[in-house]
Amino acid sequence: MEAEEGEVFDIELEQSLLEANRRLAEQNRALLDRYGVKAIDVMGSVGSGKTSLIARMVELLRDRYRIAYIAGDLTTTIDADAIARYGVPVVQINTGKECHLDANLVAKALKRLDLASTDLIFIENVGNLICPAEFPLGSHQRLVVVSITEGPYVVVKHPYIFMEADLAVINKIDLAEAMEVDVDKLEADIRTVNPSLRTVRTCCRTGEGVEEVIKALGL
Ligand code: MG
Repeated sequence: MEAEEGEVFDIELEQSLLEANRRLAEQNRALLDRYGVKAIDVMGSVGSGKTSLIARMVELLRDRYRIAYIAGDLTTTIDADAIARYGVPVVQINTGKECHLDANLVAKALKRLDLASTDLIFIENVGNLICPAEFPLGSHQRLVVVSITEGPYVVVKHPYIFMEADLAVINKIDLAEAMEVDVDKLEADIRTVNPSLRTVRTCCRTGEGVEEVIKALGL
């Protein structure tokens, strides 16, 4: 069975919430543009490799750009601590029970950064392939990371996030054979959902493919 439109209890609340978020996201974008800062929203499940990908990109880009990092996480500072090791400014947002970042939380985080001394911000969203899709943050690009370990149906079961994304990264490709996942099929699934979405294959453990992600982001 499927829920009919209007049948879900909080449907009106949700509409006004999404609209408020969209307005705040536009304000975030305007603020970033005023300072010439590029922001990238990195989405994906827990364990897909979002932090590892960001760490690799920070390694490769920190001589060219003044980078900052905003970490969304329910309760821990594990990711923020991992990226802080590279000496970049870090803002931790603990969302508690919320399964995604929203534009209001990001607006607060941006106030804690010196935007005049920043060129590029990586925003790591809360590990989730569903909720973040509906909440744009004001970033210039949205990247979704999926990993081979999420199995062969990860794309077909989460189509919306691939509709919203500007780039899809398929990570942990070194495990494809062991996991019996057909990477070509995953890419075909992504093309079915969003024909214009570019995909890049990576192994963040070794750094394979990360240069290509950077190029695809225009960095
Ligand atoms: Mg992470």
